[in-house]
Amino acid sequence: MYLKKTNSKFVWLIDLDDTLFFSGGKVMSTINSRMTSFIQSELSIGFEEANILRVEYWKRYGTTARGMQERHGVSFQPFLSFSHHLPCFEHYIKFKPYVGRILGSLIGKKYVVTNSPKNYAVEVLKKNGLQKYFDEICALEGMWINSQLRCKPARLLWQRILDKTGAKKNHHILVDDTLANLRTAKNMGFKTVWMREYFNKGPVHTKQISNRPRYVDFMVSTIKDLVRVSGKIY
Ligand SMILES: [Mg+2]
Repeated sequence: MYLKKTNSKFVWLIDLDDTLFFSGGKVMSTINSRMTSFIQSELSIGFEEANILRVEYWKRYGTTARGMQERHGVSFQPFLSFSHHLPCFEHYIKFKPYVGRILGSLIGKKYVVTNSPKNYAVEVLKKNGLQKYFDEICALEGMWINSQLRCKPARLLWQRILDKTGAKKNHHILVDDTLANLRTAKNMGFKTVWMREYFNKGPVHTKQISNRPRYVDFMVSTIKDLVRVSGKIY
């Protein structure tokens, strides 16, 4: 974890995939299929079996990488480097043109908090000219706590971020498309914003509900709404 202490009153913790841009289409399907290929070759099993394991580990361990490490002793970095290597991905990772303007208008520190690898997050933001809006990128490699990977939605991750930022609990605002992440963040005392701009556009979200759960403070249908939300929070 590389977060710096900050005197800013508010800390925006903003998810990347399917929150700042739509990854549910070609990006996710490419990453998933590369993960399955890696598992297939590493464990010498068929594609179908490898695909079932990929999903099973993602559900059980939060990330497939952690499942592969815990169950098969597969090193983290080669798995992530292979699965998140997306040739020419700048052609299909496109942010809406207003994202930078909205991020720039939010007062406080801004951190990307993503369960994806750091290289991927940096490249995606850089290619779209958005890295300058963030003070820090908290990615998968920075989520090791007490020798265990504690990615979102782990409560320990939120605690670690709190300790590092030094800001008040309710001055942390998590913006995320995944309800499980918002639930633990709210239990921690954070403010929560459920980003639904890309809701139900990808296969992984089809089971999510459409009403506002009690642990969601704000439900927004576009990142533009963060300006309105910030007005209520500040
Ligand atoms: Mg997401």
